[in-house]
Amino acid sequence: MVEKFQKTVDFVKSQYPDKNFIALHEPAFFGNERNYVLDAIDSTFVSSVGAYVNRFEEMMAELTGAKYAIAIVNGTNALHIGLVLAGVKSNEEVLSQALTFIATANAISYINAIPVFVDVDQETLGMSPQSLRDFLVHHAEKRADGVYNKTSGRRIAACVPMHTFGLPCKIDEIAAICEEWGIFLVEDAAESLGSYYKDKHTGVFGKIGVFSFNGNKTVTCGGGGALITDDEEIAKRAKHLTTQAKVPHKWEFVHDEIGYNYRMPNLNAALACAQLEQLPLFIENKRVLAERYLDFFSKMGIQFMHEPQSSRSNYWLNALIMDDLEERNALLTFTNDNGVMTRPVWELMNRLPMFKHCQTDGLENSIWLADRIVNIPSGFRP
Ligand SMILES: *Cc1c(COP(=O)(O)O)cnc(C)c1O
Repeated sequence: MVEKFQKTVDFVKSQYPDKNFIALHEPAFFGNERNYVLDAIDSTFVSSVGAYVNRFEEMMAELTGAKYAIAIVNGTNALHIGLVLAGVKSNEEVLSQALTFIATANAISYINAIPVFVDVDQETLGMSPQSLRDFLVHHAEKRADGVYNKTSGRRIAACVPMHTFGLPCKIDEIAAICEEWGIFLVEDAAESLGSYYKDKHTGVFGKIGVFSFNGNKTVTCGGGGALITDDEEIAKRAKHLTTQAKVPHKWEFVHDEIGYNYRMPNLNAALACAQLEQLPLFIENKRVLAERYLDFFSKMGIQFMHEPQSSRSNYWLNALIMDDLEERNALLTFTNDNGVMTRPVWELMNRLPMFKHCQTDGLENSIWLADRIVNIPSGFRP
């Protein structure tokens, strides 16, 4: 085992020469980042109004093919607003996955709604359409005013699947199930900027898609998020709610409902625009690395997660599937002791104290994967 791990360390290091310590994912700034940020400073428009915010929104709409994109201060808050606009209310339920980053479950909780966790697929690491359908067939019923969970008696208001590590989940099937049941679909595409499913960008399959531009994501602006939609009314509401619900007027300060200070600042948007220009380059670079990893790990007899059928992954974060928990832990220890940063997947949501009371469907694959996933360095190689 140690020999295999040593070879892994050597291989990862060979992909990042001149580095003593290989991080999991580091930002890369070598485009127009400096120019645009200085330009934003010189313009004095550093806060929530400015040319870069508008340009960022145009770039996001163009990239994803969505009609509208709204710049938001971070991905978690974009999810929160997405769920508010989906009509999720306090004490209602939102179907999601246990294998996700905490932001997904936190955003649901900000509305005092309750997450319900269904299983993921082993080949996508994202929500399993089969598990979603089975859950609904066994636990849900359609009533005049919506879909209800027969066990809890609560309305099931929305469904939030996630494209784990940039690998697209079977989002068209999930969208079809949500359509059939009349459940609002909000795609957590925080990790999948530049990932496509059946030639469509992730985030456009439901009514709302959400992205993150946090420091460790494929494209970063320090902190940032975006909400995309084809629905004009949702787009207008998203902009309104994220800008303190201020009624546009030349001088009056009038607000017509409780809003949020969730607008992305122009300073961050400047960075985001420069980074988005680099996206094709980032993805090309990451795809080469993924191909090399696939080739290397296949020969080693270690399972490397590669893009599922009909999809194109951004390979944001590469993942290995080890044989068992013991081998996972041994690899984590060896690599981190030898200058290569690796991480296990997030603890499953239903195992965290805040969410351990939440209903699940048994989560067979999620539990199996949580014991085996190891994320390996995936950042840009100069
Ligand atoms: C990064 C991420 C988010 C949003 O994170 P922010 O740091 O708030 O931008 C949401 N969901 C998932 C799955 C993520 O990985």
